[in-house]
Amino acid sequence: MKVLVTGGAGFIGSAVIRHIITNTNDEVVNLDKLTYAGNLESLADVSDSERYIFEQADICNRAEVDRILSQNQPDAIMHLAAESHVDRSIDGPAEFIETNIVGTYTLLEATRNYWDTLPEAKKTAFRFHHISTDEVYGDLPHPNDTADAEEHLFLEETPYAPSSPYSASKASSDHLVRAWHRTYGLPVLLTNCSNNYGPYHFPEKLIPLVILNALEGKPLPVYGKGDQIRDWLFVEDHARALYKVATEGKPGATYNIGGHNERQNIEVVHTICDILQELRPQKYSYRDLITFVTDRPGHDMRYAIDASKIQKELGWAPRETFETGIRKTVQWYLNNVDWCQRVQDGIYQRERLGAAV
Ligand code: NAD
Repeated sequence: MKVLVTGGAGFIGSAVIRHIITNTNDEVVNLDKLTYAGNLESLADVSDSERYIFEQADICNRAEVDRILSQNQPDAIMHLAAESHVDRSIDGPAEFIETNIVGTYTLLEATRNYWDTLPEAKKTAFRFHHISTDEVYGDLPHPNDTADAEEHLFLEETPYAPSSPYSASKASSDHLVRAWHRTYGLPVLLTNCSNNYGPYHFPEKLIPLVILNALEGKPLPVYGKGDQIRDWLFVEDHARALYKVATEGKPGATYNIGGHNERQNIEVVHTICDILQELRPQKYSYRDLITFVTDRPGHDMRYAIDASKIQKELGWAPRETFETGIRKTVQWYLNNVDWCQRVQDGIYQRERLGAAV
């Protein structure tokens, strides 16, 4: 089949495209605006494939989305394009409203129009898969405050209570996607996933930031006391889950995806420091670089996913534990200093704009 992936030059989108090109015979159309978060260098391993096409476009541009759908005639859409960084959403929410809400609406309308014109068999088999986050559910009780906190997990039925402009914009987009199913019958699928980590992660996010700062002997900033809990999932496990949902999921269904890896942020930072101490020892102790900084406003204290539905219905389970995945991730950053350097220096953006480097 032919899959249109939006946001395919981003962290998770590029993992999805690498997974599809490497493990299936499907064709992929990557529709990406190439914001600061889009990096075609993350697709270097697969972009020579005859089954891969890149279309630079904005999902908010209806005419462009119409053209891409009509020229490429996809059998499925996997929608990952989004503004994704919570801190940026607090400093400037406008782009989050534009891309995550208006962009998803524009894509839904263009898709509905395209889907209506398909021959019956192709129309029945078509899927629109919207990729979202567990942050739409707000936060869960924390073991510091509640004795039975660990019994509380996000279920597919958990009511929405987003805390940040980012999670509120993603919650809005989820509601739009469900409404397009209920009202127009568009065959949609939704997934809400926990925090991802792994290769090609943009260095503004906690795990790559800590690895790269530590290697340069810079402070390792940790919000508040570092006791916020996240449920970490290795990005390649997420990519595998997403493809399974897109191809085998029941239209109209939502699946929560998580790694059963609840860790406090400070534990994550300690683990990275200890792996680096072993693989790349320095005169200084990496843990001594940890610097506690003022907490993020509205910071959610705990996220944790119950992923039993996708496990039971689609037979998906993560292959990596946090210990194996984080070791692979640290090793990947040590082996790929060029990719990191080009992102940190902004070369990946300047070169594609044709500017002198
Ligand atoms: P990312 O920021 O790394 O990548 C986003 C991609 O979307 C970039 O390539 C960017 O160029 C593109 N994009 C942004 N605005 C666009 C627009 N208007 N038109 C077309 N393309 C545009 O994000 P990510 O971490 O890969 O996340 C992908 C999706 O998964 C997002 O929808 C996010 O909400 C969701 N998600 C992320 C996580 C996580 O831990 N990173 C967890 C759960 C869900």
